[in-house]
Amino acid sequence: MAVDKSLAEMHWKHDLLGSIEVGIVVLDKEFNVHVWNQFMENHSSIVPSMIQGQNVFEFFPEIDKGWFTRKAAPVFSLKSPVFVIWEQRPYLFRFGCNRPITSKAEHMYQNITIFPLASLTGEVEQICVVIYDVTDEAVSRMGMQSLNIQLQEISRVDGLTGLYNRRYWNEQFDLHFKRAKRSDSDSALIILDIDHFKKVNDTYGHPAGDQVIQALAQIIKKTIRETDIAGRYGGEEFAIILPDTPVANVEFVSERLRRLVEKCVVDYGGVNISFTISIGIAGFDSTHETSAQWLESADKVLYQAKAAGRNRVILAE
Ligand code: GH3
Ligand code: MG
Ligand code: MG
Repeated sequence: MAVDKSLAEMHWKHDLLGSIEVGIVVLDKEFNVHVWNQFMENHSSIVPSMIQGQNVFEFFPEIDKGWFTRKAAPVFSLKSPVFVIWEQRPYLFRFGCNRPITSKAEHMYQNITIFPLASLTGEVEQICVVIYDVTDEAVSRMGMQSLNIQLQEISRVDGLTGLYNRRYWNEQFDLHFKRAKRSDSDSALIILDIDHFKKVNDTYGHPAGDQVIQALAQIIKKTIRETDIAGRYGGEEFAIILPDTPVANVEFVSERLRRLVEKCVVDYGGVNISFTISIGIAGFDSTHETSAQWLESADKVLYQAKAAGRNRVILAE
């Protein structure tokens, strides 16, 4: 009778462990396996009879032994459960993921709970590790994150040139102005505009004009430093912030930019288009009250460069 009862008990335990959609692993203090449920068998292709009594680290070298031992220590000694979520560690057991919806994931993401199994004496001789498959949640969370980053990028960047758009550039310019005001550093602002651009559009058409704008943006990207902040300020007008740059260097960079543009030939479907730019430079001036005043002083000399015959660089006094 007693045998029957324990057999029956074994059966319902077996059914329970087999039917739940979580992994259940019971380990002793040496990390030898005592229970290995159906979920674990399905995902590892290791049947319980193979792994029972064996050391879990020998079967799963991907488990960081030192880390897992440290995690399990308070479960044994303090009898308190421990949780590890996928954001801390993507998985304990490296299982593949076999659902089409999560095909983007290379492996199953897992949350794990380790809780104490007290014996009759109250001593914790074994721990139970529960493994939850949270791949769907992880994939969608990560998808949202990368989507958010992409959206942020899109809202900052000008579609035609890949440089910052006017709104974002203005934000950065304003921040930079405030920073420069506090530190009184050597910063400069360049604004530049394509000369007689209407003529380019009129002669070759708007798409050709677009290609010229793109070519100019490429030259700007190649010429400036990584720390410089370039934006498309208007149709064919660009603005560049050069932090921590003495004015003499800015003149040098601007002149280089001007010459590169002058030499550049845009091949528009076999038609060669040449163009030039005019450049205005204004160094940071602590008497400026607002970033707009700084911009105005650069704009003023840009206008002078246009009036003086274009294809030239003028520095604000
Ligand atoms: P200036 O030398 O005085 O600058 O003469 P400009 O002809 O370049 O005059 P302006 O800078 O005022 O001309 C801007 C022109 O750029 C007007 C507009 O038709 C054209 N434009 C603005 N945005 C775009 C664009 O995205 N693509 C193209 N193809 N043309 C644009
Ligand atoms: Mg122009
Ligand atoms: Mg213009």
